[in-house]
Amino acid sequence: MKTTIVWFKTDLRVHDNSVLHAAINSGGHVVPVYCIDDAHFGTTPYGFNKTGAFRARFLLEALADLDASLRRLGSGLVVVRGKPAAEIANIAREYGATSAVTAEEVAPEELATLNEIREKLAKQGCSLSVIANSSLYDTSDLPFAVNAVPDIFTAYRQKTEAQAKVQPVVGVPGHINSPQLPDMFLPTLADLGLSEPTSDARAAINFQGGETAALARLQHYLWGTKSVLTYKETRNGLVGADYSTKFSAWLSMGCLSARYVYSELKKFEQEYGANDSTYWVVFELMWRDYFRLMMMKYGNRFFLKGGIRGKGAAGTKQNKALLQRWIDGQTGQEFVDANMRELKATGFMSNRGRQNVASYLCHDLKLDWRYGAAYFEQQLTDYDVCSNWCNWAYVAGVGNDPRPNRYFNIQKQSEQYDGDRRYRDLWRIATLVPG
Ligand SMILES: Cc1cc2nc3c(=O)[nH]c(=O)nc-3n(C[C@H](O)[C@H](O)[C@H](O)COP(=O)(O)OP(=O)(O)OC[C@H]3O[C@@H](n4cnc5c(N)ncnc54)[C@H](O)[C@@H]3O)c2cc1C
Repeated sequence: MKTTIVWFKTDLRVHDNSVLHAAINSGGHVVPVYCIDDAHFGTTPYGFNKTGAFRARFLLEALADLDASLRRLGSGLVVVRGKPAAEIANIAREYGATSAVTAEEVAPEELATLNEIREKLAKQGCSLSVIANSSLYDTSDLPFAVNAVPDIFTAYRQKTEAQAKVQPVVGVPGHINSPQLPDMFLPTLADLGLSEPTSDARAAINFQGGETAALARLQHYLWGTKSVLTYKETRNGLVGADYSTKFSAWLSMGCLSARYVYSELKKFEQEYGANDSTYWVVFELMWRDYFRLMMMKYGNRFFLKGGIRGKGAAGTKQNKALLQRWIDGQTGQEFVDANMRELKATGFMSNRGRQNVASYLCHDLKLDWRYGAAYFEQQLTDYDVCSNWCNWAYVAGVGNDPRPNRYFNIQKQSEQYDGDRRYRDLWRIATLVPG
């Protein structure tokens, strides 16, 4: 019988999963595989872990949850660890697969891995198909070719909203026809060279990895508290679980599909009415799509000091002591310090906080922005290569911001968004003393 490998990456879900759907539709056996890439657990050129403990724990939880969902459908998840090209090829050989399917990639490292695997599989008579499985709008539905996507978000958004449609979601499969699969192997955090992350009662939300928790969060934010009805007014908040959706970590690892969020929003609007807030969640998801497109368009340039503009970035200094004070929340600028302490203790920071601490690093401390981006890469549970590096380049003035010299006056920002000092007081001390 024909066998198809489903190579899962940042699409760890069974709902609205076009890759899984394509494999099932191709007939024959399906073997779902995830490779824990050793390269993701090394050190980056900036001296940080590529994956920190918060995201690693989230990943392991997401894999366990995906395995459970797949087993309920008659299948399971084969987890391997090593270099994906070798490991995926081994699994294909072991199960006699003649085809494999996986999600489209857009960033340089991920594309290189994909191409390496494609070549390796081809040599053993296994074809690899690639399917879009992450964005809200399919790239093929956009009114422009990738290299012609406007460099200004508003121009992209207006034309896309007017001329493109979000595709309907793909349902959860009823059954997956798989050969007998062994019990899933999962390494521990210690196996990955990491310690259990800290826990802090002040965390805005408990990010539990996996599709089950993702769908529960979606349910809570829409149908439960209906916080989505006031999102536009509260989204710049700093304290609590519901000032913003907190979908990011689940979206980044693909435990939640952007298209599914959209389809639930449309259902919600039918029942409770559409308003600026329900629209604004879609508006933000379009930013997420936009940065994926920019990464497709400019690739490696997003990782250079001069970014896509090729000009001198605001901050170029390297000063380890200063960088460490920023990381530890010890700069003396209270609002920056509160945000940096939250990130260190919980793996999360609000969007308002991210803009401020990034601006402070680039424009006040005048440090090389890429060190900030690399620290975020290590620390964020919701790290996404495009959203992170493109947002950082934007704030550093070497990305897609049409306004030259955008600068966040931190004092003014803290008065505007934390006038009652609630946030700064919450994070006044770096670590809570237990008991
Ligand atoms: C310097 C910097 C680095 C960032 N790094 C990341 C990152 O690694 N991963 C990440 O998911 N987001 C990143 N963001 C974007 C944004 O801060 C987070 O998506 C958001 O704070 C997550 O919280 P939320 O899910 O409650 O967002 P909400 O405000 O509820 O937004 C809903 C969703 O829209 C998307 N979104 C919102 N704002 C942005 C944005 N500016 N760019 C791209 N997508 C957006 C996210 O998927 C988010 O979950 C970064 C922003 C900055 C300024």
